[in-house]
Order: sequence, then structure tokens, then C-alpha cells
Amino acid sequence: MLRLRVAVLFGCAGVALAAAAANLTPLGKPPRWSILDGYQETITHDEFVRLLDTVYATRGYSDLITVGAKDARIVEDRDAKTFFTLRFASDTPRKVPRYWHPIEKLSGASREKPLRHLRIALDPGHIGGKWAKMEERWYQVENTKPVEEGEMALFVAKLLAKRLRELGAEVSFVRGKNAPVTPLRPDDLRNVARAVLKKNGVTEPADHYTDAADPAKENTLQWQSELLFYRQSEIRYRAKRVNGVLEPDLVLCLHFNAEAWGDPLKPTLLDTNHFHILINGSYLPEELEPDDERFEMVRKLLGRAYDEELPLADKMAEVFARETGLPPYVYTKDTVVKVGTSGYVYARNLLATRLYRCPVVYFEPYVMNSHEVFARIQAGDYDGTREINGVQRPSIFREYATAVSDGLAEYCRSARKLRD
Ligand SMILES: [Zn+2]
Repeated sequence: MLRLRVAVLFGCAGVALAAAAANLTPLGKPPRWSILDGYQETITHDEFVRLLDTVYATRGYSDLITVGAKDARIVEDRDAKTFFTLRFASDTPRKVPRYWHPIEKLSGASREKPLRHLRIALDPGHIGGKWAKMEERWYQVENTKPVEEGEMALFVAKLLAKRLRELGAEVSFVRGKNAPVTPLRPDDLRNVARAVLKKNGVTEPADHYTDAADPAKENTLQWQSELLFYRQSEIRYRAKRVNGVLEPDLVLCLHFNAEAWGDPLKPTLLDTNHFHILINGSYLPEELEPDDERFEMVRKLLGRAYDEELPLADKMAEVFARETGLPPYVYTKDTVVKVGTSGYVYARNLLATRLYRCPVVYFEPYVMNSHEVFARIQAGDYDGTREINGVQRPSIFREYATAVSDGLAEYCRSARKLRD
């Protein structure tokens, strides 16, 4: 995780004053802490501590948050020694301010339309199209169709939208075509890229890299500005759309997973295949240092999306695993926390799950560069089943969309108490 510390200097009668020092993530905005006043007395002490300790800050939060009996003191700006004080609810918590509605509170559903009045935004991962290679979500085995995650995720989203609407949901798209949501392009972000590299000790970066296999690419202005474009700016603009325009009750982020494939023109294919779901949480101590990231974590916690995300993700994972037969992914990195009971759900601090303020369920099924998934992608979309490596299988895209919609329908029927 890259962080950027910018000191803004104001010249004043020949004297330079460090008037404001912002400790922010790249492209992060200084937080408006007063927004959290809306959450005063909406959470009890015990609930706040439970969510911090078991979901969001499981590896500690040092002196950035001090929890007392009646309130929590959260550092706004370490250098300026300013704090935000969050008062706990004593007995009856006040209503949580939020645009989304918990599924169990929605009315008007039926057994046939278990998703009625549920507003779902579909977020196909990545950008796709002419950006797929830059995003490193593209590979091609000689003389076969290229495998492009962004395109496939959008295709699944379109199939899924149809199914969800049949079940009564109101569906929108965070990204509806293979093009960026952000109006910015890598060239607009070169100054930020230069500052990020400088912070990492690269003071005179090369301008361009030669190709995807160039070992020095990470230290070039081109690579850093591309990364800021597709990984940071793009997600921040999607978040603006989710929170400011779509205001859904739920976002489903749709991805295909992969293992390292090396050279995209000579990719490594493997036998491994697996599936997992991510929800927001598990902020590392160093991720709580930037002021904006810490603010966003506290806001996400106080919005109480986790209460909805966990049971939803658990049920959707259970159904998805049952229908696809995929085994759970086991993390080898220490950046996640396993949550729930399905064995497939992890909490992790991703930009999208952090910034989208409603419940977000982030799907990571299928290893795109496994032999089996590669064969299924090459087979394309089709009705019914076909033999793939000796087994009758539906199209991978339809299997994905059906498994997601079946899981959501099953959850809604149970949460909304719809009987046969
Ligand atoms: Zn992805």
C-alpha cells in the first residue's frame, strides 16, 4: 500500500510556514470529521469494541483510537494533535444515518419476487476493453481467444441483471460498458505518480517501461500513473457514483480470480481452482495511519454495513460453492481475517469495499488461468451443457450468474420470512 505525505507550504511575507500537513493516501481527500457527528449515540460501547476488535482493526490501532466507557477518541490529525470524540449510546441507540435499507426491513416481497424493492448495483471488476492489458487483466494462449477479466465480468453482470430483475430487484450498473468511469487518464496523474515515487525513494524516475515483463516498470512514471488511474481514480469515481447517484441497498462486485500467470503472451496454466468472497474489514495498523483511510474505516464501521454483509456473504458463498463445486481459497498472506461460518468469506480492506458505504459483497470465483477455467472460457457462452474435459458443464458465465442470483434469492426468502 502506497501512501503519500504532502506538506503544503504557504509563503507569508517571506516566511514559509508549514500551515497544513496532510497525511493522506494517494488521491485521498482530507476527511471532514464533522460528518461523524451524525453517528453520535448510534452505537453502544460494547458493539463499537466488538466491531473494532473482531472485524475492522483486528491487529490493533495503537493510540489512534482510545476507547473510554462513554466515548471513543479518534485521532483526526496526529501532528496537529486534534481528535474527534464519538459518544456511545447508553441504552437506546439513535438511528444510523444511511441511504441504504436492510433487506429484512423492505416490504412487498413474495415467494416469486423475493428481491422486490431491493436496489442492487452491479460492479463488474476492472475496466476491460482497450484498458485490459494496462490493467494486467489480460492473457492469451497462442491462437486462442484472449482471456479478459473486465469483459467477462461485464458479461456476467448483464446475465445477472436479467435474473435479478425477474426476481423483483431494481438493478443498476456501476460500470455498464468496457470503459472507465473516471474522467481522468494516466497522463493527468503524472504529478501524483512522481510524488508517490519520490516518497518511495525514487527521485529521478524513468518515463516509460518497455513491456509488461520489464523488471524496472514499477519505478517508472508511466506504470505508477497507470496504476493510479485504474486502481485508485477509477474506484474513487465509482464510489462517487455509488454513494452520490445510485444509492443502492447492496453492491455486488464481480471478479474472476487468477494466480500469477507470468508473461501474458506465454501464460502459466495451473490445475488449481477456488472461490472466496471478500467483505470490508481487517485494516492493517499501517493502513490506519493515513487520516482519510482511518476516517473511512470508522465511517464504514458506524454505517453498520457489516451486520448485513456478513450473513449475506455467508449465505451467498454457501450457495455458490454448492452450485459450482469450487473449494475455498486459503489465503497465504496475513492481510485478511476469516469471518462467518461458510469457510469462504474473508474481511479485507479493499478500496471499493471501504468507499462504497452500503453493504458490498465482493466475489472472487474461478482461477482464470487454471486449465479447466481456460477451457470453459474458450467454450464461450451457450445454452444447456457441453462436455468440457470429460464433464458436462453449463457456460461458466451462466453458472456464475445463476449461483449469485440463487444465493441472493435464498437469503432474501429467509431474511424476509417468505414461506412456501
Ligand atoms: Zn479482478
